[in-house]
Amino acid sequence: FDYEKRNQHETRPHFTLEVFPPKRNASVGTIYDTLDGLTGLKPDFISVTYGTGLSADRTATARIAHTIHHEYGINAVAHLTAQYLTADDVDEALAMFDDAHVSGILALRGDRNPDREPVNVFTHASDLTAYIRQRRPDLEILGACYPEKHPQASTLQEDVDNLKRKVDAGATRLISQLFYDNDDYYRFLDLARDAGITVPIEAGIMPVTNAKSVRRMTSMCASRVPAPVEQMLTRWSDDPATLQQAGIIYASQQIADLVAHGVDGIHLYTMNRPAVARRIWTNVQDLFTADQQPQA
Ligand code: FAD
Repeated sequence: FDYEKRNQHETRPHFTLEVFPPKRNASVGTIYDTLDGLTGLKPDFISVTYGTGLSADRTATARIAHTIHHEYGINAVAHLTAQYLTADDVDEALAMFDDAHVSGILALRGDRNPDREPVNVFTHASDLTAYIRQRRPDLEILGACYPEKHPQASTLQEDVDNLKRKVDAGATRLISQLFYDNDDYYRFLDLARDAGITVPIEAGIMPVTNAKSVRRMTSMCASRVPAPVEQMLTRWSDDPATLQQAGIIYASQQIADLVAHGVDGIHLYTMNRPAVARRIWTNVQDLFTADQQPQA
């Protein structure tokens, strides 16, 4: 096991969280409830997703990032999806993110909406990354990566080669799509390091909280549901509380194994459920503060 090759962190792994803006008609208070529940976790940053839908509020990500930084004193990372944006739109978003004092931007292409033609300025996330890098030379730019490959790539190797372009364009940290089998992550990590990608890569963990959302998310991302997760979904299909409890244990075990393998960071998809995130953090927090010794 080649610790040096797979992992880039120097001291301890990052622990980061992701939230999404509340739906347009939801009360603004719901995001405060979410953030109140997450602050005690002392994450390295909280990232805020960016809505691609026609009805999405384009200022929501910046406003929530502003709150995270200014009111909670936690680093904020803003997501930005660019395939439906012009260069002027991106400049406007960057100005809002400056006001929010974001510590980084997660530069994304976004998912294709079949009813909408892309603008064709930022075709790939690497185009947006290069554009932001030119305008904000010192900013941390993050990128997404896919341990089981992006659904549109024909092979994992092709996807990793494209990922290298994103890093060459200026991405300084990567965050992975969800996965439920750590072996898929380790296989991807070896390919990425072999391709010359040396930036830190954080593992994206999405706890199983209810069967419907696992089915929806894994089919959208074309991620595998391995046998132990399939078993949980079947065994507790009529018992959501127990399924959630099993999901917390499963995510905690995934994290423990990743940290034991010296992962650069864990990015927890909180799905705006702070109680679940807190219970996972309670299980694993000591692993993050213990000295990290490279192992032979
Ligand atoms: P890209 O990096 O552009 O990759 C998309 C496809 O194009 C891949 O198949 C890749 O291999 C290929 N490709 C990439 N670069 C090139 C190139 N230069 N030449 C040829 N082919 C290339 N969606 C949202 O709407 N809002 C969010 O806030 C959001 N946050 C996310 C956070 C994380 C951590 C992740 C993993 C995903 C997130 N997504 C979000 C979903 C994301 O927008 C979709 O997965 C989208 O389909 C791809 O975005 P990308 O930035 O990875 O695209």
